Amino acid sequence: MKEQRRKIAVAHPALLGNEKKYVQECLETCWISSAGRFIPLFEREFACFCGVEHAVACDTGTSAIHLILAALNVSAGDEVIVPTLTFVATANAVQYCGARPVFADSEPTTMNIDPNKIEELITPNTRGIVVVHLYGHPAEMDQVREIARWHNLFVVEDAAEAHGAQYRGRTVGSIGDAASFSFYGNKIITTGEGGMVTTPDRDLAERVRLLRGQGMHPERRYWFPVVGYNYRMTNIQAAIGLAQLERVDEHLAARRRVAEWYGHYLRPFEDSLRLPVEELWAHHAYWMYTVILKDSVEFERDAVMQELAADGIETRPVFFPMHMLPPYHGSGGKYPVAEALAGRGISLPTHALLTEEDAAYVAERLGMLCQTARKRTTWSGAAI
Ligand SMILES: *Cc1c(COP(=O)(O)O)cnc(C)c1O
Repeated sequence: MKEQRRKIAVAHPALLGNEKKYVQECLETCWISSAGRFIPLFEREFACFCGVEHAVACDTGTSAIHLILAALNVSAGDEVIVPTLTFVATANAVQYCGARPVFADSEPTTMNIDPNKIEELITPNTRGIVVVHLYGHPAEMDQVREIARWHNLFVVEDAAEAHGAQYRGRTVGSIGDAASFSFYGNKIITTGEGGMVTTPDRDLAERVRLLRGQGMHPERRYWFPVVGYNYRMTNIQAAIGLAQLERVDEHLAARRRVAEWYGHYLRPFEDSLRLPVEELWAHHAYWMYTVILKDSVEFERDAVMQELAADGIETRPVFFPMHMLPPYHGSGGKYPVAEALAGRGISLPTHALLTEEDAAYVAERLGMLCQTARKRTTWSGAAI
């Protein structure tokens, strides 16, 4: 019999501040729907946190990307370049607009979109590029923006996983033409479900606001100049979000501490594991501490995850690249880096409540499993 241990979750919200107090206020005042004081407060504070002029709260991170693309008039016949290694919402939002996502391969170190593989994908139909700050590490924005400027394309940041991450000293969400954030329960800060659009562009922000609220004219009730959506955030969500944001520095510091613990306890196993990098120009938000099994293949990785689960350690595989999923299959193109990362990557439990003891235990179990697996098999994958 294995020693029984408590379960270590891969993600966990930390509701340690004014969340309860603010939600209580919503309930007591009956401001529970999508009007109320917490919504503009949360928007203003979030814009300030990102160092950007405008923020518009909405119901999910997926809606946030959709609202941006719709506000940019992305429509049928358009193409938008997105990394193939991302969560499905990035590609789906393009599809919702009737446009076509065109997938770019990743670069091996940060796992983000490879700027050197963008230009070859540009056609006369290309409208823009959505970068994703995957797992909390910022994408190489200067190179992407340079390409975009040259070809007259928009740049959108999908920052769903990267609240507070920095690129060359600039907070993500303030770098592209617009950015989207998610406040789903497993994200860096949460509102249960929720999203935010940030942008320096006043007109774009106004258009996002219009589309968020069914397209109703701001000064003429029940007059709808465009087809909009009901993507509003509730006051209750914003109440939780504001309380989370008040303590965002603590949330981020806790995640960084977890990453440091993993770095320390996994160092002895670096011959079989590649640990996450933080580029010199980057400040990682460590949404997920993701390791790559160096020479493994997918079935080995899955076996390691199963063994960890048996020890009470919940982990998650790196996303399947979009070009492998049924809706986007046969998109053409070759994605060797994204496929290798997807087949060998494991995200370890990463959240603000994880203790050093937890991290040490996860690291020890993972390290041992990798070393045993290494002895057991003849490794067939190419090293990355
Ligand atoms: C979570 C996530 C989203 C979607 O956010 P929801 O709030 O769940 O709709 C979009 N993109 C990425 C990269 C994500 O991780």
